[in-house]
Amino acid sequence: MVDLALSSDQQDIVDQARAVAQHCLAPRAADHDRTASFPERNFADLHEAGLLGLLVPSQYGGSGADLTAWGLAVAELAEACGSTALIFAMHSGAARLLAADAAVNPVAERVLKEITTDGRLLSWGFSEPGTGGNILNPQLRATPDGDEVHLAGTKAFCTGAGHADYYLINAHSGDPEFRRSQTMAVVPAEQDGLTVKETWDAMGMRANSANTLVLNCRIPTGNCVGGPGGGMTRLTHALPTLILGLAAASLGIARAAQGFANQHVMRRTLAPTGKPLAAFQGVRLHVADMATTLHNAQLSLLHGAWTAENDPLEALGALNMTKYICNRAAISVADTAMQVTGGHGFLRSNALERHYRDARAGAVMGANLDALRDMIGKAALGLDPRGDDITTPTGENRS
Ligand SMILES: Cc1cc2nc3c(=O)[nH]c(=O)nc-3n(C[C@H](O)[C@H](O)[C@H](O)COP(=O)(O)OP(=O)(O)OC[C@H]3O[C@@H](n4cnc5c(N)ncnc54)[C@H](O)[C@@H]3O)c2cc1C
Repeated sequence: MVDLALSSDQQDIVDQARAVAQHCLAPRAADHDRTASFPERNFADLHEAGLLGLLVPSQYGGSGADLTAWGLAVAELAEACGSTALIFAMHSGAARLLAADAAVNPVAERVLKEITTDGRLLSWGFSEPGTGGNILNPQLRATPDGDEVHLAGTKAFCTGAGHADYYLINAHSGDPEFRRSQTMAVVPAEQDGLTVKETWDAMGMRANSANTLVLNCRIPTGNCVGGPGGGMTRLTHALPTLILGLAAASLGIARAAQGFANQHVMRRTLAPTGKPLAAFQGVRLHVADMATTLHNAQLSLLHGAWTAENDPLEALGALNMTKYICNRAAISVADTAMQVTGGHGFLRSNALERHYRDARAGAVMGANLDALRDMIGKAALGLDPRGDDITTPTGENRS
């Protein structure tokens, strides 16, 4: 049975994330957005608070938090600074992948320990210029050569590129069998043959540094999580984290937009009545729309996280819905907030316009809303969400 109540340990993590978000991230967010500068100090603060290792298992010095506490923590960070939350979510997803291999892979174990002791930051390089968000068909190649693997290709939109300490890169192993097709490589930032191209100048998530990576390098075989061609099972372990993280970041942005709007409509009074905007029933109906949309998104996040932890077979279906609901909630709430705050919401001096721009990111990030909708539709029809076959109940193939 789904239990949505938080334990005291989970609540402590959320409270700690909220404290760092409010005291450290929020005051710097506007400046990072304006200057598109990477929020280095935010990550020093997150490390100091012990939050960088939230998803690192305790035997490697981390908190070993569950996805509910972690997802709610991401939402707290996003309420203050969407970019920081997104970088944190990608870092945590990469850590989760390493954790799946750390018991047998000394490189994964060492990097996890470095996160908790030295505040090392991970980045997740999966998207490519050629294949877009179709991340399991990389054009980047991993070719084994003795006790090394040669990586050649380009990664696009790699959050934190130029600032992370390690990149987790997926590459095609050359094996035609899908199950053996993924090599997950841990590439240190100082690796010879790794080049960062500063391509990131975006409408939202401006502090994200989602730059381009060009790789033509050789890494030791030991840097391949699960061994060359053995990354798929490790990825399966990490995927729920990434989907949930993108949903949680959207939830936090939606909450920030709602918070701004609700405060504004209560405070702003109009002459000659002197009544606040909230005196208009039309405004209150918008407020109700934001509240119900957020309620739905919050419940979906809790349900998705619970399912990922407790019911792995149902997890992907539940998380796809969670991401879809939360990504859409961010866009819808930010849009409604813009309406009820009038010209004030439109001003760059107010945070709402940043939330409005940041809200768009989750919808185009993998899996994008259209791909998600397709998968959700297939699942609702009892079809394979990732397959192309449309088979009728009589077994007749309509594809
Ligand atoms: C702020 C931000 C941060 C990011 N960070 C990272 C990161 O850290 N690591 C990383 O690997 N990637 C990252 N990405 C990349 C992201 O996950 C997507 O891969 C990328 O945005 C896809 O862009 P594209 O132009 O290649 O889209 P395309 O793949 O060209 O798709 C464009 C549109 O086509 C439609 N479409 C595409 N595929 C399908 C489908 N299967 N079904 C239905 N419709 C479809 C959708 O409408 C989609 O939005 C980031 C992106 C952003 C915006």
